[in-house]
Parts: sequence; structure tokens; C-alpha cells
Amino acid sequence: MEKKGLLIVISGFSGAGKGTIVKKLVERYGYSLSVSCTTRAPRPGEVDGREYHFKTVEEFENLIDYNGFIEYAQYVEHYYGTPRAFVEQEMAKGHNVILEIEVQGAMNIKNQYPEAPLLFVSAPSAEVLQERLRGRGSEDEATVKKRMQRAIVESESMDVYDYIVINDDLEECVEQVHSIIEAEASKTCHCAGFIEEIKKELKEIGKE
Ligand code: ADP
Ligand code: 5GP
Repeated sequence: MEKKGLLIVISGFSGAGKGTIVKKLVERYGYSLSVSCTTRAPRPGEVDGREYHFKTVEEFENLIDYNGFIEYAQYVEHYYGTPRAFVEQEMAKGHNVILEIEVQGAMNIKNQYPEAPLLFVSAPSAEVLQERLRGRGSEDEATVKKRMQRAIVESESMDVYDYIVINDDLEECVEQVHSIIEAEASKTCHCAGFIEEIKKELKEIGKE
């Protein structure tokens, strides 16, 4: 039976562990991960097409004009957007697609795909969040401070999400996110095809 895949939005504070969780979900359960376009410069170690598709502002604005994004947002002076073609193709194949995006993008997705679950990942406390940002070693102290300041603003949007996921023990957290997605996929609204099919089969057998 053909079943359309789900869109799953994962947002959260920088340093909460989103990237780590998503990587494990993709490896373990084969979720599709949407690679966004951005106009920000690649960070050391980032590869074009793997972390992001890196674009000039002109290229990005052309893609906007051609309806190339299912959502896009400006975040800290740069554009970020979710390419439409990949997401639509994957969903049509029945694959569940994860979008790791910030809050404006999450709201935009909710408006277009009301059935898409929105998950917000947090560290268990502000202190642990700060430790993780420092421990990651990719930011200097001034950037850690900026990210902690941004977390204050982002915390104002937490209550619009469907799920708050507390990333304390990593393994438990990965399993929790997977369970949420499985439960979402079992919602009646995603099972119309199966319902029709089983009704038909029951009638066929009933005739015998
Ligand atoms: P984000 O993508 O949300 O910015 P990362 O996935 O880069 O966060 O994680 C930030 C840091 O915290 C990384 O060094 C990562 O290894 C670490 N980390 C992630 N989850 C946990 C966890 N449950 N316990 C301890 N450290 C974690
Ligand atoms: P970073 O520059 O640290 O990689 O990402 C900055 C923020 O942009 C993160 O919160 C990340 O989740 C978000 N982001 C990444 N891709 C997209 C996207 O396609 N759309 C939106 N709206 N946000 C994105």
C-alpha cells in the first residue's frame, strides 16, 4: 500500500544536541534528512551538498523566485531555505523527511503541513547547554555567549511546538524521538490508504 512520508521538524537551542540526534536517527532508522540551502559561508570541515548547499545571495533569491523552497527564513543576516524538490520527492516515495530548521521555518511548515510534528530539543538545563557549547570546541567564548543570548529569545517560542524533547541521555533521547515519529505516522490522518484497503478486503471476504 502506498503511503506518503511524514515531514518532521526538529528545532532547538544551539548546542542542545540536534545534529547529534538527527545523525543517529538517519543512520539507525534511515530517515531522509533535507539538506538546506544557505548564503552563509561554510565553516571549516563543512562540505557543499553535505551540511548545506552553499549559495550566493543572487542564486538564493533566484530560487525563491522559482518557488524552489518549501520555506525559507533570514537568520542572523543570512538566508536559509528548505529545497522543495527533494522534500516532495522523498515524501512521495513514502520516506519520512527530517527538517532541522529554526523557529520561523517551523511555523511556516506548520501552516502548510498542519500534520507535521514540530519537536523542540533542549538540554536538561541552561548550565548543561552552556557546557555543551563550550565542550563542542567549535566556538570561542564570545560566540558561546551570543548563542546563550539567542537561546533566551528562542525559549519564547517553545510553547508553539508539539513536543519538547529533553536531551539528557543521548541514547534515550534518540529512541524517544523515534517513538514520537512512529506514533505520529500511526495517526488516523496518515492511514487513509490502509483504512480504504482493509475495508475493501473485508467486503471481498464477506462475499465468499
Ligand atoms: P546542535 O546541533 O543542537 O547545535 P550538537 O549536536 O552539535 O548540537 O551537540 C552539541 C555538543 O553536545 C556536541 O559536542 C555533542 O557531542 C554534545 N552532546 C549532544 N548530545 C549530548 C548528550 N546527550 N550528552 C552529552 N553531550 C551531548
Ligand atoms: P547554522 O548556521 O548554525 O548551521 O544554522 C543556523 C540556524 O538555521 C539553525 O537554527 C538551523 O536549524 C537553521 N536552519 C538550517 N537550515 C534551515 C532552513 O532550511 N530553513 C530554516 N528556516 N532554518 C534553517
